[in-house]
Amino acid sequence: HVKRQASNITFPPVLDDNERILLDSFDNTSIAEWSYYYTHGDHVAGRNKTMAQWTADKWAEGGFTSRLDEYYVYLNYPVSNSLVLTYPNGTTLSASLEEAVLEEDETTGYPNRIPTFHGYSASGNVSAEFVYVGRGQQVDFDRLIALGVELEGKIAVAKYGGPFRGLKVKNAQEHGMIGAVIFSDPVDDGNVTEAKGVAAYPNGPARNPTSVQRGSVQFLSIYPGDPTTPGYTSKEDSLRADKSNSVPRIPSIPISWLDAQPILQSLNDFGDNGTEVNRTGWVGAIPGVSYSTGQGSTATLSLTNVMEDAYTPIWDAIGIINGTSQDEVIIVGNHRDAWIVGGAADPNSGSAVLIELSKAFGKLLETGWRPTRTIVLASWDAEEYGLVGSTEWVEEYIPWLKTAAVSYLNIDIAVSGPIPGIAATPDLHSIGTEVMKKITFPYRGSTNQTMYDVWEEEDGEIGVLGSGSDYTSFLHRGIASIDVGAGGGPGDPIYPYHSNYDSYHWMSTFGDPGFHTHKAMGQYLTLLLYHFANDASVPLEPSGYVPEFRTYLEELNSTITSANGTLDLSELTDAISTFESSAQEFDELRQLAISSNNTELLTVANQKARDFSRGFTSQGGLDGREFFQNLIFAPGLDTGYAPVTFPGITESITFQNNFTRAQEWVAKTADAVLVAASILKT
Ligand code: GLU
Ligand code: CA
Ligand code: ZN
Ligand code: ZN
Repeated sequence: HVKRQASNITFPPVLDDNERILLDSFDNTSIAEWSYYYTHGDHVAGRNKTMAQWTADKWAEGGFTSRLDEYYVYLNYPVSNSLVLTYPNGTTLSASLEEAVLEEDETTGYPNRIPTFHGYSASGNVSAEFVYVGRGQQVDFDRLIALGVELEGKIAVAKYGGPFRGLKVKNAQEHGMIGAVIFSDPVDDGNVTEAKGVAAYPNGPARNPTSVQRGSVQFLSIYPGDPTTPGYTSKEDSLRADKSNSVPRIPSIPISWLDAQPILQSLNDFGDNGTEVNRTGWVGAIPGVSYSTGQGSTATLSLTNVMEDAYTPIWDAIGIINGTSQDEVIIVGNHRDAWIVGGAADPNSGSAVLIELSKAFGKLLETGWRPTRTIVLASWDAEEYGLVGSTEWVEEYIPWLKTAAVSYLNIDIAVSGPIPGIAATPDLHSIGTEVMKKITFPYRGSTNQTMYDVWEEEDGEIGVLGSGSDYTSFLHRGIASIDVGAGGGPGDPIYPYHSNYDSYHWMSTFGDPGFHTHKAMGQYLTLLLYHFANDASVPLEPSGYVPEFRTYLEELNSTITSANGTLDLSELTDAISTFESSAQEFDELRQLAISSNNTELLTVANQKARDFSRGFTSQGGLDGREFFQNLIFAPGLDTGYAPVTFPGITESITFQNNFTRAQEWVAKTADAVLVAASILKT
């Protein structure tokens, strides 16, 4: 074993017997087999009970008691769509709206493959002039208005990237636009493009020009879950609420850059040139396109989108190993539904890994080991429509989760490239990085380093949780959460997110040939789970919040400065100091419990570690979005994916420019921090 200078860790990692049994159980070739199974069938939400049952059965083989939890939810499915460009001279051009079927990649030609569409999009048939709106953020629309570009009654053509796609449609709708078209752009692929001489999939790692990003257009930052049952579980006979606050009224479709090219080119000759708009992310890299807004153009688009509404069962597969202690549960979740037949990265890299994880725990159970804390495995359905399976489940089990949940561990896209990453609540930062030091991680042909080494070299920052995957409902009920996955960096093969090319063939050729990264990510999640389920002391570090709070405060201060306002933050800074001393007291209490072998005291410490973050939630939630109860972090109102910290305060400034409201939020946020501190206090 060699001590590394930089990270002070040993290689190969030192493991105890149980850790060794768990990690040795992992086999990359079986993961490839599970991946093959999951990536060869339609698994759009509500359409694949067989895969749910197969998952539950596999987990049962590992010793989990498994079942399917069924919910009746609102979804919609595509019937037909079309997009026609009419030039000012009257000639027309129809977009293909299809991804090329590839001989090399069998599932791209499956007869039951899913058309390109947006989940929860509105049906409609609209014809109008169109405007290029950049990435479709509120600031993009503000800029268009400042330039005098007319929006009312027109169709928005928006670029993917930046905010969650549903918010692009929401912004277009709120500006009186009547339809939206969202295209992928090679600018997001850096140097790995055909324009830079790199061959496109299936011949090389660049994006296939016909690839289309499907996906939900729910208003994710307002409310996730079934849009017709906000705050309560969707059962067959549930009352249904009006969904118009959380799904669009205007139709939208996604298109490839190849289909977008002539549409955008038709705007080149008119009005401004794209560079003059001078907005971040405005100008893309489609050949021959200037990214003009199109002000003055008389070309039109005719957009038809026909969707079929359904109130339909969905199935969450649930697997349980009961712990020996009461009221402590650790949940590990991954979604199973995909927009496509494949979904080798999203979500099936995670799904395949969970089968292998269940096998590993089966091996450990055979030795007579029993977990202290109850383990729940979850395979969520309908994540893609809006985190529906996990949200309905949390809404059903919230009384139990509030008392018993120690942590939620999420794995969605386990692997879409070679670089490991994590985002987590700060109490998980310590265990999240410690476990990395125990995992041997493959990296660009070398196997001579830990996951920590690779992570530190390539990323080295733990992300803040925003939204876009199934941790959201847990996080916003005050449950410590982590999201893990490996992705690509600049120069790595382009991951064809939500396209037919996210297939077994892509994964085994470009994404993770040999499935070695799958194996390492699975081993990581397994050890993380093991320590949560097994360790006498719950591996959460409340004091991890302290330095993060200080960072969030600095960010808040610069937000205040850029808004030219003043805000008295003393209540919040005082609350953070109180939290800091309570966390110190807690650390001392726990240390004492461990050193004196006092199990009663350790039980108290474990309860505090489990419960304190419930204090960060507020019943009424954030302004205009009561679902989002966590006052420390939330998905940005106009980003959806990217987080904001101290969201009540921050967004009163950035969205409402209302410093009176911001001051009220300072008080509420300080209160939340004090409630958390009081739970920790000894
Ligand atoms: N992962 C899904 C997406 O990004 C989540 C959809 C949602 O949260 O509504 O499209
Ligand atoms: Ca609901
Ligand atoms: Zn996913
Ligand atoms: Zn997805």
